[in-house]
Amino acid sequence: MQFMGESNAHYYSRREPFGEAGDFITAPEISQMFGELIGLWLADMWIRAGRTEPAHYVELGPGRGTLARDATRAMKRYGLEPRQHLVEGSVALRSEQLKQVPEAQFHDDLSSVPMEGPVLLVANEFLDALPVRQLVMTDHGWREVMIGLDGEDRFVEVPGQVPMDSAVPEARRDAPSGTVIETCPGAAATLFEVAGRLVKQGGAALFIDYGYATSRNGSSVQAVRAHRKVDWLAEPGVADISAHVDFAQCAAVAQSRGARWLGTTEQGAFLKALGIDARAEALANFAPQHREALMAARDRLTLPTEMGSLFKVLALAAPDWPEGAGF
Ligand code: SAH
Repeated sequence: MQFMGESNAHYYSRREPFGEAGDFITAPEISQMFGELIGLWLADMWIRAGRTEPAHYVELGPGRGTLARDATRAMKRYGLEPRQHLVEGSVALRSEQLKQVPEAQFHDDLSSVPMEGPVLLVANEFLDALPVRQLVMTDHGWREVMIGLDGEDRFVEVPGQVPMDSAVPEARRDAPSGTVIETCPGAAATLFEVAGRLVKQGGAALFIDYGYATSRNGSSVQAVRAHRKVDWLAEPGVADISAHVDFAQCAAVAQSRGARWLGTTEQGAFLKALGIDARAEALANFAPQHREALMAARDRLTLPTEMGSLFKVLALAAPDWPEGAGF
């Protein structure tokens, strides 16, 4: 867990990882349609909930600020001009984000976001960057997966010395040797915190990431560099390390704090329900020279063979807020 945490802290502080020239491309960087439809979803929620002011747009891990910029533009069309709060750990990325949303206030975590007024929160590919903790069943019981060095000074996974059986829920304790259970304390803490804010202040939240709709065993840690999967132990701080998000667990944590879980759906279905086809068509009619690129971007975001199925969207709201479009 510490290995992944420190590697990513270094990774995001060092340089710009996104885009064709970087290591990976995220949905808002593929097309403006992504951020616009998210903005539309938030505006629709806010309007149907009674247009309470002041509203706060909060984004966790905003990358280059592209989603915030596109969502802000869409919200404005519906009379929603929330204050903008960006929760970002990387100083290098903060300066990028400021170029896109000059009015934004920056936060190290949620605690400094104002406590008055509804929170409209988005986190795209944020939870997958948070470090996971893995437990492995050995011949001597459950142990934490630690990182050590082999004879040639290469990083390798090794089971820890301390018995961890009590950290494994009883129902999952009896498992064959080699079984791995992965948890993400940072994701659980984030969901708990966000749910608490929604209950107290009103609002709605979207968590978009790649992951499972139902919990499963096994390691899901992977590393990407220059658009290729690489050994996650080989280049700490240089490759982006991420893990699948356990959306069932996220929903359970949020509900335990009293927030409403509006549902978890696939990104493709979500974007289609919000009208990405019509939006792509409208943009293509406006700029016919970009028709092919627009349709390709739409396909990349929605097709099951691309990002459409692997990526999920989890929506939460305050208990007295309405149902969400697309769920
Ligand atoms: N949402 C963006 C970027 C995703 S990459 C997009 O879709 O393009 C992950 C983002 O989360 C980066 O902005 C990274 O700096 C930020 N991040 C990762 N760990 C964080 C942490 N512990 N606290 C705050 N921000 C973090």
